[in-house]
Amino acid sequence: MPDQSILHDSWDREHLWHPYTSTIDPLPTYKVESAHDARLRLADGRELIDGMSSWWCVIHGYNNPRINEAAKQQIDRMSHVMFGGLTHDPAITLGKMLLEVTPPSMHNIFYADSGSVAVEVAMKMAIQAAISRSGSHDKTNFVTICSGYHGDTWNAMSVCDPVTGMHGAFGTALPIRYFIPHPSSKFGEEWNPVDIAPLEKVLEEHADEIAALILEPVVQGAGGMYFYHPQFLVEARRLCDRYGIYLIFDEIATGFWRTGKFFAWEWAGVEPDIMCIGKGLTAGYLTMSAVLTTTDIADTISRGEAGVMMHGPTFMANPLACAIAIESLRMLEEKDMEGHLAHIEEIMRRELAPASTYANVAETRVLGSIGVVEMKEPVDVGAFQKHCVEEGVWIRPFGRNVYIMPPYVIPDEELIILCRKLLKIIH
Ligand code: PMP
Repeated sequence: MPDQSILHDSWDREHLWHPYTSTIDPLPTYKVESAHDARLRLADGRELIDGMSSWWCVIHGYNNPRINEAAKQQIDRMSHVMFGGLTHDPAITLGKMLLEVTPPSMHNIFYADSGSVAVEVAMKMAIQAAISRSGSHDKTNFVTICSGYHGDTWNAMSVCDPVTGMHGAFGTALPIRYFIPHPSSKFGEEWNPVDIAPLEKVLEEHADEIAALILEPVVQGAGGMYFYHPQFLVEARRLCDRYGIYLIFDEIATGFWRTGKFFAWEWAGVEPDIMCIGKGLTAGYLTMSAVLTTTDIADTISRGEAGVMMHGPTFMANPLACAIAIESLRMLEEKDMEGHLAHIEEIMRRELAPASTYANVAETRVLGSIGVVEMKEPVDVGAFQKHCVEEGVWIRPFGRNVYIMPPYVIPDEELIILCRKLLKIIH
């Protein structure tokens, strides 16, 4: 029996807030001593195969020698310098690389601090551009689809799912957005044209008040782990153009090959007006995100009342984070990622398939390196994670979803073990 005091620190339990955790009855937190590749080493020496990529971002695995080296080199030059009035090669090189891999119409890049802040920036961009373009101060609201998740800051929260998100906790303090049901047509199944009708209705009635439609393309992450039909994006693009609404893609979770494409917009070939990226951008080393947009939007903002984009974070374009992102992108460039992700997908599909026959499982779905087993009942996270640790894997379910999205460097044998342990735990 491992020494529990090594694994569960009582000072931590008493003083440190963990995400979405009660201070009165906190879930256990396991102490990690180090991590390498797709493995977390606990304080008692046990190793767990990581199924979470630390919430989508550790794409090249932990303690990656190439990224470590890039970070060390940059630290010896400068870790940070303000971006107001100054610039640097890491920001420029990274920007050039990002424009190579994002939709062709993306032209201007705003570096931000985190995914949530990227969403705030994207929403501010849409409002500033919408007001400048229309001359109307009424075009300040947003429409989004249910079961989405866009982050924990104010405006990001307001476009999260109104039921599973944070609307209940903040009541009238949150701005009221327009919500439409998420498309019923699932990824890989037949497209049902009725799915676009609710958006058409909202835009018909409220386009004058709406700056943009914001959504996660194809894969909804933390709001429901739902995969929908790419045709929805084609139809949404058409409606946004017809009603003069901007289209924002939040690719913070879907980006950097997670769905099997570099970015999920590629599934539909539909370009957004504004795009948020984060998480995998810095391979899980540091927090940084970016918001990309078209010349038209950037210039429309600059012609508006303020004359500038009204945001400027202290750590904008942090050189250390940029250097890490550059090395991560180089590694993605050097490998046949499409082939590699197809290989991961094939293993996960095969290994998770038996779950569909379990009486307590509602549905199993896999796309790229995302594997979801949706249970019929909510999962007890504390009990589930205890079981995971005993079995030597790390998976953190939420609601009814038990899901894995491992680092891309996970060896086949470890991926197979991860999937089989998942099945064992839920069975
Ligand atoms: N958008 C999406 C789609 C996300 O999945 C997340 C994080 N889970 C965010 C935004 C917020 O990112 P962050 O936690 O870095 O603020």
